[in-house]
Amino acid sequence: DWFHVPAPGGANTRFADLKESLEKTAHEGKPRLATVCEEAQCPNIGECWNGGTATIMLLGDTCTRGCKFCAVKTDAAPEPPDEEEPWNTADAVTQWGVDYIVLTSVDRDDLPDGGAAHFAQTVGLLKLRKPSLRVECLVSDFQGDLKSVAMLAQSGLDVYAHNIETVERLQPFVRDKRASYKQSLSVLKEAKRLGELPGAQRVYTKSSIMLGLGETEAEILQTMHDLRQVGVDVLTLGQYLRPTDHHLAVVDYVTPERFEYYRQQGEAMGFRYVASGPMVRSSYKAGELFMAAMMD
Ligand code: SF4
Ligand code: SF4
Repeated sequence: DWFHVPAPGGANTRFADLKESLEKTAHEGKPRLATVCEEAQCPNIGECWNGGTATIMLLGDTCTRGCKFCAVKTDAAPEPPDEEEPWNTADAVTQWGVDYIVLTSVDRDDLPDGGAAHFAQTVGLLKLRKPSLRVECLVSDFQGDLKSVAMLAQSGLDVYAHNIETVERLQPFVRDKRASYKQSLSVLKEAKRLGELPGAQRVYTKSSIMLGLGETEAEILQTMHDLRQVGVDVLTLGQYLRPTDHHLAVVDYVTPERFEYYRQQGEAMGFRYVASGPMVRSSYKAGELFMAAMMD
């Protein structure tokens, strides 16, 4: 019962307005800005868009990896990045009147820096046009390349998010083979370290775990503990839902009560904020989570 959500859409809604302004970002034969809300078939799209939150997808809609839980299109050689995208994104986002934006992308292992410079440029332009805008970047592991991590962590962003996705034992069955538990932890650790250097702009770090893939309670708690050990500030936990019959099957549906239990455990471990619930996704209510996390 807890998965029933109202269908998105309807005239005169913010959902309809956002859809319309996204269509207008198409120009000179180039496609419009993509959102992960649509590409990943996120079930929160009605609630988030009507609440004024959307997650922009940079670097195209085609990923070089193929995680077994993800509905995004994949190809070993996607189109090259649109060089004008940082400017178009900054133009569109600053016109929407939002105070918080999440930028994310597919993984671009075909690019030498994994797309880090493209992200950093977009963050820089957004901050130039609207300094009060808070920017969260939910990014890949850049194949563990700490130079790319630094380029992004020092770009002026507020939240560096990277998802560990699942417990250590299930990583090879769930994520693309180029991802790994230890690599994700090392990326999060480095982003945190850079954000705490003297004189550096403070960077909050964030990660997310999907539940319902066969993990045990002990494994979930261990993963939360490992994320805290590398200084992760904000944690989100949500139920994995199978996008199509070709993706991993759901092993179990975790009850709202169990999600609440993990939220309490996470707060006791020292996360600044934990969002935990069946429909929670990494960017769900990201602005509110940020405000809560930054309160010392
Ligand atoms: Fe978009 Fe994230 Fe909301 Fe899903 S949870 S609709 S991806 S902003
Ligand atoms: Fe999907 Fe990200 Fe995996 Fe690509 S790397 S398949 S976008 S989860």
